[in-house]
This record gives sequence, C-alpha cells and structure tokens, in this order.
Amino acid sequence: MRKADRRVLLVATAVMILIVVLVVLALRATSQETDSDTLVVAVTILPQAGFVEAIGGDRVEVLVMVPPGASPHIYEVTPDQMIKLSRAKMYVKVGLPVEFELAWMDKLIAANESMHVVNCSEGIQVLEMDENHHDHDHEQDHGHTGLDPHIWLSVRNAAIMVQNICAGLVRVDPANQDYYEENRDDYLEQLEKLNSEIEESLSDVENRRFIVFHPAWGYFARDYDLIQIAVEQDGKEPDIDYRIRLIEEAREHHIRVVFLSPQYPTRSADVIAREIGGRVVIIDPLAKDFIGNMRVVASAMKEAMQ
Ligand SMILES: [Zn+2]
Repeated sequence: MRKADRRVLLVATAVMILIVVLVVLALRATSQETDSDTLVVAVTILPQAGFVEAIGGDRVEVLVMVPPGASPHIYEVTPDQMIKLSRAKMYVKVGLPVEFELAWMDKLIAANESMHVVNCSEGIQVLEMDENHHDHDHEQDHGHTGLDPHIWLSVRNAAIMVQNICAGLVRVDPANQDYYEENRDDYLEQLEKLNSEIEESLSDVENRRFIVFHPAWGYFARDYDLIQIAVEQDGKEPDIDYRIRLIEEAREHHIRVVFLSPQYPTRSADVIAREIGGRVVIIDPLAKDFIGNMRVVASAMKEAMQ
C-alpha cells in the first residue's frame, strides 16, 4: 500500500469512528428525553388529557385510554396501550361509575402497581343520574345507575379536577411544583372567565329545556339552570310510549333541537327531530380542548333554546 493510500484510509476510518460516536450520543440524548425527562400520565378520557397537558405542559406525555371517537361506556384496552401504561407514573381516573373504569381500573392498576392514582371526582358534588334529567316517572333502572359520571362537562367541576391533577403532579414530581402550580393558576383563571361568559350568554334564554340523546349534560344543566331531557332510556333506544311522551313534551315547550354526541350515532335522533319539526345538532362530550369546546356547546345551546 502506498503512503498516500494509507493516509486516505486513516482519515476515512477516523471519520467513520466520529460518525458512530455522534450517532450514539444523539440516540442517548433522545432516549433520555423520552424515557426519563417526561412524565407519562395516563388518563381515561380526552378532556382529562387536555387538563393534564394544560398543567403539565412539556413535562408530561399523556396516554389516553379511551381514544378519540370511542365511547367510555364500551371501549376495551389494546395490548399496545397496556405496554405503554407500564411506563406511566400517574393515572388520572374519573372516579365515578364510567363503564370503562368499572371494567378496567383494577386491571390497569395491576399492570402498573407503582403508578399514583388521582381521583378526579374528589371534592366534586356528584349528582344522581336522574336529578337533573327528566320529570317523567319511569321506575326502571338507568343506563348509568345511580351517580352521574359526566362530571367533566361543567366548568365548575373542571376547576376542581384541574386542582386534583395539579396536586397529583406535584406529588409524583415535586421538583417542578412551581411550574405546575403556575400553569394551574393560569388555567383556573381561564376557566373562571369561561364560566362567566357562558353564564352571561345563557342568562336571557327563556326556554331552558333541551333534549339530548345521551344524557351527559346534567352538570352543565345544573350550573346554568337548564333542564336536560334525555332521549335514551337505560342507556338504550327509547320505547314507543316514552318516545310519544318525549315528542309531546318537545311540542309543548317548543323544543326544536335534538342534541347528539358524535360517539353515539343513531337514527332515532333524526326520527324524533323530524317529528318535532326540528333538527339534530352534534355536541361533543369528549373533546380534548375543553375551553374551546364548551364555548361551542354553549352557543349551540343558546341557539337551540332561543
Ligand atoms: Zn355517558
């Protein structure tokens, strides 16, 4: 081998070694970022994911158990989610009879016993499913028997949930306490503003009843002094008798909108809407952007009830 050739070989080898070293360093940096720096927080539903991200910012990575479009009343966890869950440091549960949690919570905890479980409903005044629901006298059990699990659909409740989440984050990651509490205070301020906005916009609505297929808006109705009328009976399609009474009630109170969740598509909402000479309007009980979605819902309700 000539001297010049040997020099080229040496330089090439040195460059190769340098590249390998750089790649290894880069890989190690990224794996540290995803594995040890960010805190994996699992939640049941998307609105909770929005809350956790608002408080945790770039310090958290959120794993949503019931993904977009799915219903927390019937969803089943995938093996892939179980693997991801094993990295979670904290689980944020609704803490009320949501079918998903009734069916899965024990298994999720068994899969990762070290994660800290935050109960979002702690400190919230929980309503009975029927309390704000309907004035008809049906004695049968309800789809959600007993307590109304849809606590997140209330700005007042959201403020409590956010405080519970913040306390949980501080507990599992005390080094970042100031950061979390600052974000919490910012978010609480936004919620307060949102609440007075909605209160004001709904204050002059005379007809305060609304019809919704799946009765997820009981807390919203309580907060703003509205009356929620559910189409569903026992979490199922209504029978003929009930449907007739519902249509009578709608006509009597000049209700022209049937609200429907995108997660529960059904033809019978169209049928009822047609019979009352009205229309179906979609409102989402599971949007991740809580504040934006509540604005949309409030204006849809105002429009429907005017
Ligand atoms: Zn529901």
